[in-house]
Amino acid sequence: MSKVILITGASSGMGLETAKLLAQEGHKVYAGARRIERMESLRSLGIIPVQMDVTNRENNQKIVDQIIADAGRIDVLINNAGFGLYGPVEDVPLDDAQYQFDVNLFGLAHLTQIVLPYMRQQKSGRIINTSSMGGKIYTPLGAWYHATKHALEGWSDCLRIETKPFNIQVVLVEPGGIKTEFGDVVGKQLQKYYDSSAYQKQMDPYLRMMADPKAMDNATEPIVLARVFVEAVNSKNPKRRYVKGSMAKPLMFIRKWLGDGTFEFIINRAFG
Ligand code: NAP
Repeated sequence: MSKVILITGASSGMGLETAKLLAQEGHKVYAGARRIERMESLRSLGIIPVQMDVTNRENNQKIVDQIIADAGRIDVLINNAGFGLYGPVEDVPLDDAQYQFDVNLFGLAHLTQIVLPYMRQQKSGRIINTSSMGGKIYTPLGAWYHATKHALEGWSDCLRIETKPFNIQVVLVEPGGIKTEFGDVVGKQLQKYYDSSAYQKQMDPYLRMMADPKAMDNATEPIVLARVFVEAVNSKNPKRRYVKGSMAKPLMFIRKWLGDGTFEFIINRAFG
């Protein structure tokens, strides 16, 4: 059955591939991001691009109102917009950290709040949140990014229990390393703090990785994750969590079953 879907972060990476695949499956897709020009070509697939910065609450409301006016309902919200703020806790200004939370948690929390009344009225709905293997594990210099994704995990689990009586399902997608623009954004952020930092030795492996054209060779193509999102949308009984992509399963397994000590030994060697 065709569903009305709003997906955020659809101008690149996993969101872009997912929007395309959902439209090909016959769903009515509203694709949101700040760089609307990057989504213009999606119109040929029947996708409706909407310019949105998830931190702009007034605009979020306008978009949801527009979807309801156009389509009469909203069946699925895919909260996928996000970025990685990496940098030493000592160096990252709290305003930058606050913005990381504004995008990765409060932006999607606001969108969720404003679609829920419609989903309750419809007596059905699905919220799909893009978390990360980073919502379960941790990496050097990633304190703020991991804080947002760990928070998103707990937030989504609570929400699932709250909305179950209204037939609204909450799903988490936990990608591993995926070939998208994510790494470029991480690199730019890190560079901002580099010159005056006492943590350059810990930053260097990341910056070397960013400069290495082969660094992402083993990462997963975003289309692989797009198929996971489509499954989470179409499945009658979606899983609570979908784990997919390079290194996600082994790293999550090691932390969960072998403990933090073993996990940190491995991660310190990898980033040493
Ligand atoms: P990406 O290619 O950088 O895509 C990120 C998307 O988020 C872009 O469309 C960007 O669009 C949008 N976005 C960023 N800030 C926004 C804002 N304030 N308002 C609206 N849209 C915003 O990276 P990606 O890997 O596909 O990332 C998608 C999600 O996957 C993120 O939540 C990320 O944390 C998560 N993730 C990624 C990986 C990975 O290895 N790539 C792994 C685990 C989880 P505009 O810049 O045009 O607004």
